[in-house]
Amino acid sequence: MTLPFTRLLRAGLLAMSIAAAAPSFAQQALQSPEQFLGYKLGSRFTYHADVLRYADYLVQQNADRMRVVPYGRTYEGRPLEVVQIATARNLQRLDDIRRSNLRRAGLESGTPNLDQPAIVWLSYNVHGNEAVSSEAVLQVLYDFANPQNKEAQALLERVVLLIDPCVNPDGRERYAQWYGRVAGAPANASPLSWEHREPWPGGRFNHYMFDLNRDWAWQTQRESQQRIALYNQWLPQVHADFHEMSAEAPYYFSPAAKPFHEDITPYQRKFQNVIGDYNRQVFDKNGWLYFSRETYDLFAPSYGDTWPSFNGAIGMTYEQGGSGRAGVRYIKSDGDTLTLADRIAHHHAASWATIRAAADHQQEMLKQFDKYYQDARQRPRGRYKSYVVSGSPERLAPLVDYLQRQQIQFGYLGERRKTQAYNYSNGKREGVTLQPTDVVISMYQPKSTLVKVLFEPQAALEDSLTYDITAWSLPYAYGLQGYALTSNLKSGGKAPAAASKPNSGLPAADGTTYAYIARWNSLRDARLLSTLLQRQVRVRVAYQPFEAGGQKFQAGTLIINRGNNQGLGNRFDAVVRSLADSVGAELTAVKTGFASEGSDLGSSNVHGVGRPNVALMAGPGTDATAFGEVWHFFEQQLGYPVSVIGTDYFASVPLNKFDVLVLPDGNYADVLNERQLENLKSWVRSGGRLVAMEGAMSYLAGKKDFALKTKPADSSRTNTNKKGAAPDPYRQLRRYGTAERESLQGQVQGSVYRVELDNTHPLAFGYPNNYYALVRSPLNYQFLGEGSWNVGVLKKGQAASGFTGSQVRAKLNDTVVLGVQEMGRGQVVYLGDNPLFRGFWQAGKLLFTNAIFMVGQ
Ligand SMILES: [Zn+2]
Repeated sequence: MTLPFTRLLRAGLLAMSIAAAAPSFAQQALQSPEQFLGYKLGSRFTYHADVLRYADYLVQQNADRMRVVPYGRTYEGRPLEVVQIATARNLQRLDDIRRSNLRRAGLESGTPNLDQPAIVWLSYNVHGNEAVSSEAVLQVLYDFANPQNKEAQALLERVVLLIDPCVNPDGRERYAQWYGRVAGAPANASPLSWEHREPWPGGRFNHYMFDLNRDWAWQTQRESQQRIALYNQWLPQVHADFHEMSAEAPYYFSPAAKPFHEDITPYQRKFQNVIGDYNRQVFDKNGWLYFSRETYDLFAPSYGDTWPSFNGAIGMTYEQGGSGRAGVRYIKSDGDTLTLADRIAHHHAASWATIRAAADHQQEMLKQFDKYYQDARQRPRGRYKSYVVSGSPERLAPLVDYLQRQQIQFGYLGERRKTQAYNYSNGKREGVTLQPTDVVISMYQPKSTLVKVLFEPQAALEDSLTYDITAWSLPYAYGLQGYALTSNLKSGGKAPAAASKPNSGLPAADGTTYAYIARWNSLRDARLLSTLLQRQVRVRVAYQPFEAGGQKFQAGTLIINRGNNQGLGNRFDAVVRSLADSVGAELTAVKTGFASEGSDLGSSNVHGVGRPNVALMAGPGTDATAFGEVWHFFEQQLGYPVSVIGTDYFASVPLNKFDVLVLPDGNYADVLNERQLENLKSWVRSGGRLVAMEGAMSYLAGKKDFALKTKPADSSRTNTNKKGAAPDPYRQLRRYGTAERESLQGQVQGSVYRVELDNTHPLAFGYPNNYYALVRSPLNYQFLGEGSWNVGVLKKGQAASGFTGSQVRAKLNDTVVLGVQEMGRGQVVYLGDNPLFRGFWQAGKLLFTNAIFMVGQ
């Protein structure tokens, strides 16, 4: 990267002048973004480091009114930070203001201050290629830093600003650097020039190709985890999230579109309008085009508007027309030129409108915030007053971590108890027996609205026209047994000891242990296998259930024999135990290879587990987020090496270097030609394992030698006609105005289905006989024939939660979801459901691990 000479000079001179003349510097006028950066805002994209450098400069000049709070780093190592802006008086007592706010929410004890300003949190550039946001924020920061700006200073009497100038630095930089390389001089406005055609994967996502605006509720990504830890220390009254949409579109602000989640309160609905009014005034005055109440709904909790709303804020989304397509100048189809400067002006105006609205309604906002949390604690929403989740401490651990990160209070039941409850696994209200170690979440707590949204078995959908998942209930997502109770269940128990120190009960390592046994039922166990294999420890897996040392073990159980690992010598116990401790996995030690039931530990029913070399396809043709989910899983969750292979050179890759090839979702007709498919088949026949997910699976359907077939067209028709009746001649008469709504009949955006599992097959090891999957596309496959295994299937009536269009419902009756085809010495694993979707569906992770390590051993 070369910087223009004048810019280098300016930056260098500036650094010297700060160092040499700091005392008198404050008397000079504050430098605008243009003066500081050396170019006019809107003439190019500002690199992330320069965005932060300008923020730092403003803070240095206004240390009595501004602070930078670093809150973490991205996967690529870029700093994440929030800029705090307040009056000098408020900045001095900022921590009191923060704590006073938490007291209002009931998350800290004590009495809140009466004269607290409202807290406004503005987030820019969560989607990296919606790059206008971090330009607009420079102007916003300047305005509110500038002591000469009397209106800004007056607003700060009533609000504290927390400004995140770039939520997704890795994505932004991917976009800005690319654009900087290809932009014309001057910028070329023709939509045909390459500066308007971002290459795969684009800058929208973070390093691992996650959409950070689908991660607020799940917090699977480092950026979200670190940001929300800080957010939860503040709980602002307003959160606004700045985006861009298609370059042809105008501007969007609130009120949001339907559906609203039913737990968006009347006050929050009202303020969607109030803040909308402030925006409308400025957009009307300038004659700028905009729309509201369309497209952007308030339903699924994954977003930067909904998740803050379920935490008591007014959650806002702003969308400017532009995004990665628009560059600095862009000729739209109507002939007008959209400029980056226009886009900046709009986001800048919306930022001001939001701050003005909050300042003008400061008292009401605080009053309503108090009420929101008082209601949450004393009059929680919904019919269920407590939720109970049951499972071993090991399987509950990820949920417990998650609840803690969300500031959701919970306890352990502490006794056995019979009661009536809604049972998530069969959808019935019935008598159930709860266990002492069950986790109890009472609705009488500050975060009860969030609890309801995350736990309720079925979220009420006032309108099905939404563009995201419609079901996400945590017991399904975590693969745990859940109950919902209409009574407020008290929890008096302590956390089970096994949750913190899983191997504290093992006998002394005196060399008499014949083998260590590890159950196979959680991601921790998968991590154990991963780390053992990488340390060259030999691991075997029981293909059948057995009983040893007085305990029963299911198929899939890992066995680490001393006799198999003589290379470790007398370090055997220490190595195995320390690796288990390092991942928190639980071991059982046995002194004999004899099984009191089932096969002995040395039997040939106990198979050695290989250490597979895994390749993962990426690049144009694959779906970037689907690829990223697999990549993130290997590197950040499982801790196992994976070689990423680009579609552009896949043809030249010697496949015999790999044991497993994962094809994430994508359009493989564009990736694999006939010859490559043949090569792939010969590699499988000679012992390779192909894992085909979603679109890769549908690409293979009907191809020569693949067992997978789609169902005949008429079997997926809806039953509008009785069998044998003449076709309905009016079927083609459709109303134009309802086309969008009708298209929903063919969709499933994300609904929970109970998949029946054959858990005697290695692909389903560690599972009961069913698995709740988040189904997001109309699977429509025949059951696999001879030589193949239908490991996971949907039969009729297995929908558990969420919206499914009527045409899709028929397709989802009787289809294979998870299957394995034996092909020569290898296998093809079909994963019609993506068990790693958005990294939050914990229930599916072992299934994917099975596809990599267990199948074909
Ligand atoms: Zn966006």
